[in-house]
Amino acid sequence: MTALTLIPDFDLTAHNTLALTARSRFGVKIERAEDFPALYALAAEQNLPLRILGGGSNVVLSQDFDGITALVSITGGGIIENGPDATVVEASAGETWHDFVVFTIDKGLGGIENLAGIPGTVGAAPVQNIGAYGAEVADVFESLLAYDTTTGTTRTFTGPECKFAYRDSVFKYEPGRYVVLSLCLRLKRDWQPNLKFAGLSELEGTPDLTPRQVMDRVVALRNSKLPDWRVTPNAGSFFQNPIVSLEDAAPVLAEFPTAPSFPQPDGRTKLSAGWLIEKTGLKGFRMGRAGISERHALVLINLGGATAEDIAALATHIKTSVQSRFGIALHEEPVFT
Ligand SMILES: Cc1cc2nc3c(=O)[nH]c(=O)nc-3n(C[C@H](O)[C@H](O)[C@H](O)COP(=O)(O)OP(=O)(O)OC[C@H]3O[C@@H](n4cnc5c(N)ncnc54)[C@H](O)[C@@H]3O)c2cc1C
Repeated sequence: MTALTLIPDFDLTAHNTLALTARSRFGVKIERAEDFPALYALAAEQNLPLRILGGGSNVVLSQDFDGITALVSITGGGIIENGPDATVVEASAGETWHDFVVFTIDKGLGGIENLAGIPGTVGAAPVQNIGAYGAEVADVFESLLAYDTTTGTTRTFTGPECKFAYRDSVFKYEPGRYVVLSLCLRLKRDWQPNLKFAGLSELEGTPDLTPRQVMDRVVALRNSKLPDWRVTPNAGSFFQNPIVSLEDAAPVLAEFPTAPSFPQPDGRTKLSAGWLIEKTGLKGFRMGRAGISERHALVLINLGGATAEDIAALATHIKTSVQSRFGIALHEEPVFT
């Protein structure tokens, strides 16, 4: 067993896509799944809180965390089963999600091309059931391996055990209980492109369409719509699209009959958070060192030197404004930690 090296006064500014000024009392890179038990034992011994960080693309980090921040950096993976109907691919939690997508495409496998270009790690992908362009990780999920910090054991989760829903899973019910160590996806041989989403439908009818062509289109669409977090620090969509009753949606739809509204299987409807914010007149709005992107009303940006408090104040202003304009409550997507 290798000794864990805790780095004191760890600067996390380069470890979150909002580039928030943030430090942790200790930071540590975990490169082997076997090191988690020792890490949790160490944190308990020193009576320090421990938090898990992947690529930092879905978090709002507090300026000073008086504990240990563990960066999940376990790499590896490959094809683990090549059946006649499907191929099962595995990746360790610290792999970059987009690299995993490219790996599957390079192997001639389709199934996660619509999820290309999403920042972050493989381990975080099932936590919030990442989704884009009409697809989500749950669609192709096979299983995952997680470390249970409560029992100190590792366990395998099947799809139903993960309780996947829109940007949700069992791993959000008890934050911090499980550390995802690796993920397996089942990619079917008879790949059918998923082109329902606006922007992809124009690929319909392309002769011999390949997963790579769909991936390239997805990446191009994302680049044209979303500000690049490396240039304009952000955490992607800051609010979940609200799923509301038809009664709650009625005032919005009465005033704007063409407002985006997507009927749900349970009879409710999903409204567009970005559309609501834009119609509230907040696109491009700035508040101190934080602002709303001019390009996309759902994206909060760091204008330079922002802290979690600046982002939280802006998020509160947006929620209050949308609530008073439309009577709809918005909920943040990133985790404040
Ligand atoms: C520009 C941009 C675009 C985005 N577009 C999309 C999109 O289209 N669709 C979408 O769904 N999301 C999108 N996101 C959000 C983000 O990319 C995803 O949520 C991603 O899965 C987060 O991965 P991460 O490794 O950065 O997680 P982090 O931000 O590091 O962590 C997020 C949460 O997951 C926990 N966590 C991280 N790793 C693990 C692990 N191994 N085990 C257990 N818990 C863990 C953390 O503790 C934290 O609570 C976007 C973000 C940005 C910046």
